[in-house]
Amino acid sequence: MDCFELKHAQAGYIAQMVRTDRLQQLFRQSVLAVFGSFVAALMLCWLCWERFDHQVAILWIGLLGASALLRIAMFVVYFRTPESERTPQRWECTYWVTLVLSAGIWGGGALALMPAHDLLTQVLVVLFTVGMSVSAVSCYSPYRYMTLTAIGLVLLPCALWMLQQPSTMQLSIAVAVLVFSIFVINATMSLADALERAFRVTREMEWAHRLSAQAARIDELTGLNNRRAFFERAQQLYTQCQAQQRPLCAVMLDMDHFKLINDTYGHQVGDEVLRQTGKVIIQSFRTADVHGRLGGEEFAVLLPDTSLADALAMSQRLISALSGLQIERARGITASLGVAASDGDDLDLHGLLHRADQALYRAKAQGRNRVCVAEGLGAALL
Ligand code: GH3
Ligand code: MG
Ligand code: MG
Repeated sequence: MDCFELKHAQAGYIAQMVRTDRLQQLFRQSVLAVFGSFVAALMLCWLCWERFDHQVAILWIGLLGASALLRIAMFVVYFRTPESERTPQRWECTYWVTLVLSAGIWGGGALALMPAHDLLTQVLVVLFTVGMSVSAVSCYSPYRYMTLTAIGLVLLPCALWMLQQPSTMQLSIAVAVLVFSIFVINATMSLADALERAFRVTREMEWAHRLSAQAARIDELTGLNNRRAFFERAQQLYTQCQAQQRPLCAVMLDMDHFKLINDTYGHQVGDEVLRQTGKVIIQSFRTADVHGRLGGEEFAVLLPDTSLADALAMSQRLISALSGLQIERARGITASLGVAASDGDDLDLHGLLHRADQALYRAKAQGRNRVCVAEGLGAALL
């Protein structure tokens, strides 16, 4: 992946995670809104029961109850859904529908209940719609347009109705409510921005941490595990194979006369040889194998579930692949390899690698560009 692709992938990942964080926050924050809006409607009806049209009030409470049940069902399904399936693509639309429905019923019902000639009740109704819109800010703040829609649907019908009434008092109340709502809208925008920034920064830090943790484990030149990461992963694999009594082989590789390559063609060509060797190692082994650059021009590979004969064949194929490399003027690149199988005599991982290393030194001593097998039970069976 090049730099541009990585940046693109990072931007896409962070945008998606921020959206998911907003959704999760929305669901966590707005559970109470479902009960709150229903209880507020009940309280308003209780306070003004004598002044309301009973049929309209009962219909309003019934519709609000039904929409509250719908929302409760949505919350139950959401919180029961596995976290991986709580995606914005799947839930945002459902949430919007239930929000518009319940806010619309609230605002429309409040308007339908507004008594034409009872200023005290009118003020009480408007007061409740103001209260509802303030609580919308605290409940839906991760989604600014949800908050604005909820405020608009709950507050505007009664406020606009008041605006059209003849008395100065009613007009003043409507203007006050509209001015007040400008401040609420402002607060909504600031809060939503701040929340989104906080989510973004958290996710960006998480991404940077992941990248740096990954970089700390990878050898920059070859792309293989570095020494620390190799020993960590190798130890895990060794322990697993010992516990499950699975066969395990170790291969140690050291480039031949590498100092001469550096001295003859320059350090940069030497670096390129190491880079290409890393590629050949990655291509030559399976994903279950653990490989790494131990330092300088030395590499190691652990092969689980592999017989010594197979490890030997893989090592020989690796030697041929390396001999085919042509890096600028450098040709005839060779390496010496030592192979050992874990046969119960090793005390630990280091014992196994040590035996493979001893075999490697025999390969050097015998003239290089070859594979030698460590002595032991496995070698006798070859
Ligand atoms: P032998 O066949 O006995 O292994 O000989 P050799 O020359 O490969 O071994 P030696 O240990 O004498 O030299 C290893 C050389 O590898 C010396 C060092 O400068 C070089 N080397 C180590 N790390 C790097 C690296 O990252 N890049 C380059 N270009 N050279 C490196
Ligand atoms: Mg060496
Ligand atoms: Mg060497």
